[in-house]
Amino acid sequence: EEREDLMKALAETRSEIEEAREASGTRFGPEFAAVFHTQIQILEDKGFVDNIEQAINSKKNALLALRSVLDSYRETFERIEDDYFRERGVDIVDIGHRIMEKLLGVRSPVAPMQPGSVVVVDQVLAGLFARLEMDQVAAIVAEHGGSTSHGAIFARTLEIPAVTGASGILAEAQHGESCIVDGATGRVYLQPDETLIAYYRDAQHEYEVAIEHLDALRGRPAETRDGTPVTLSANVGLLNDLRQADQHGAEGIGLFRTELLALAHRGFPSQEEQDQLYRRVVEHISPRPVTIRTLDLGGDKGIPNVGMADEENPQLGLRSIRLTLENRRAFRAQLRAILKASAFGPTKLLLPMISSIEELREAKALLEGVRARFEREGEDFDRAMPVGIMIEVPSTAISADVFARESDFFSIGTNDLTQYTLAVDRGNERVAHLYDGLHPAVLSLIDMSVKAAARANIPVSLCGEMASNPLAIPILVGLGIGELSLVPAAVPFAKEIIRALDVRDVAEDARLALTASSARDVHEIAASRLLGAGLLDHPDIGAWLRNAVDEASGFS
Ligand code: PEP
Ligand code: MG
Repeated sequence: EEREDLMKALAETRSEIEEAREASGTRFGPEFAAVFHTQIQILEDKGFVDNIEQAINSKKNALLALRSVLDSYRETFERIEDDYFRERGVDIVDIGHRIMEKLLGVRSPVAPMQPGSVVVVDQVLAGLFARLEMDQVAAIVAEHGGSTSHGAIFARTLEIPAVTGASGILAEAQHGESCIVDGATGRVYLQPDETLIAYYRDAQHEYEVAIEHLDALRGRPAETRDGTPVTLSANVGLLNDLRQADQHGAEGIGLFRTELLALAHRGFPSQEEQDQLYRRVVEHISPRPVTIRTLDLGGDKGIPNVGMADEENPQLGLRSIRLTLENRRAFRAQLRAILKASAFGPTKLLLPMISSIEELREAKALLEGVRARFEREGEDFDRAMPVGIMIEVPSTAISADVFARESDFFSIGTNDLTQYTLAVDRGNERVAHLYDGLHPAVLSLIDMSVKAAARANIPVSLCGEMASNPLAIPILVGLGIGELSLVPAAVPFAKEIIRALDVRDVAEDARLALTASSARDVHEIAASRLLGAGLLDHPDIGAWLRNAVDEASGFS
C-alpha cells in the first residue's frame, strides 16, 4: 500500500508539472517550458525511481522512504564543487516537496493560485517570471528592492502592478486576506474597507477606459505640436509582451532583453532555442525594426553556470558584456542566432554596458567572424545589420565621441547610467530616494551622448525606465532624443504628452534643467511644462498627470 501511495504521488506530481509546462509554454513561449522539463526528467530518472523503490522496501513507509532519498540527494549535491551542478539540487528538493505534498494531501500554498492573487515576496527576482503562473497574478509586493530592479521591470512590461521596498510587508500580510496594490503611488492596503475597495474599483475602471480610448487612437503619429517626430518603441523581454506592443501601437522593439531565456534555464540557452525565439520576434514585428540586446547577466540577474563567482560588488563586477566576452562560445551562439534572425526582418544588434572601446572592438571582431562563416556557408543574413552600444556607464557618455565613430547607433540605458552616475544601487530601497534620472548630472551625460551622436550622424534612443516618466518626457524631447523605448503600456501615455509639446519650449526647459541645482528643480521645470501645455485637463491622462505634477510641486 505504501508503495502504491508513493507511485500514485509520483504520477500525480508528474501530471501536475506537465500541465504547468503546457500552460507556461502557451503563455510565455516554449523557452519557458524548459524549466519544467528538468523537473520531469528528474521524475523519469531511473536512478531516482529505483532509489525510492529500494528505500520503500527497507523502510516500509512512503514518507520515510521519500525523505531518506531526498536527504541523501541533498548531501550528495551539497558536496559538489561546480556551482551549476550544486544548484541542480534545488530542483530535486523542489520535486521532493511536491511529491511529499501529494502524499500528505497538502495543497501547495503557491500553486495553483487563484486568479487575482497578490504575490508577496522578499525580492522580485527576474527568475520568478519563469516559475509563477503570471496570468493569475494581479500584483506583486516585495519587501526589498528598487523600482528599476529587473524583476520590477519585467512585472511592468507584463502590466502587473508591482510595489518594491515595502518594509514589513512579509510580517504583516496574511495568506488569503484581501489587499489593494496601487502601482502608481506605491501604496499597499491590507484588509481594505468597502469604501476604499469601491474607490479603487472606480479608479481601475477609469484607467481601463482611458487605455481603451487611447489604444483606439494608436495609429496617430507621435510628434510634437510643431511637427517633430519622436519614435515610440517598446521594451520587451517575453514573447507575451509582443501582444502588448501591438495593442498599444509601438513602432518597433527598441530593446529586446534576452536574459529571461537564460534565467529560465539557469544557464546559457542553446543556440537552437535562441534561433527560434529571435526569429519569432523579428517575424512578428517586421516590417517594424527589432533591437536585440546581447545577454546582460550579472548585477541583479545572477544565475549559476555562467562562470559567475560571488562578488563584493556585482554591479561593478563581471556583469553584462564583460561576462559575455569571457564566455565566447555562448556569445558566438547568440551572435549567430541574432544574425540569422536578421534575414527575417529589420534587426539591430545592441551591446550592453560597454565601458571601453576595446570591448566594442572585441565584440565586433567576434561578430565579423560569425559573418565570415555565414558567407562561406551561404547562410542568409542582413549584411547591413546595424551594431550599436548602450550608454550606461558615465565614462562612455563622457567619451561618447570615441564610441560614436565605431557604433551605428546609441541606446541610452538610464537605469544603469543613473545608478553609476549617482552611486546609488538601483535595487536598494534604502537609497531609492537618491535615485533619480532627472538629476542634472545624469541629464548632462545624456546631453553629451546626444550631441556626440549628432556629430557622428548616428541615431540615438533612450530605453531606461525614465522614458515612461511623464516628468522626464518633456526634458528628454528637449534634449533632442529621437526615440524613446518604453514599457508597452506607457506608449499611448507618452504619445499624448509628446503631441501637446512644442520643441522650442522643451528645448528651453532642457537647457534650464542642465544647469539646475538638483533633481527637484528639474521636476518643477517639467511639471510646469505639463501644466502649461494643458495636459492636466486631458480627458484620458489628466488625472494621472495631476498626481505627478502635484508631487513634483510638493503638494502631496
Ligand atoms: C538600463 O540600464 O537603462 C537598461 C535599459 O538596461 P537594464 O534595465 O536591462 O539594465
Ligand atoms: Mg542596463
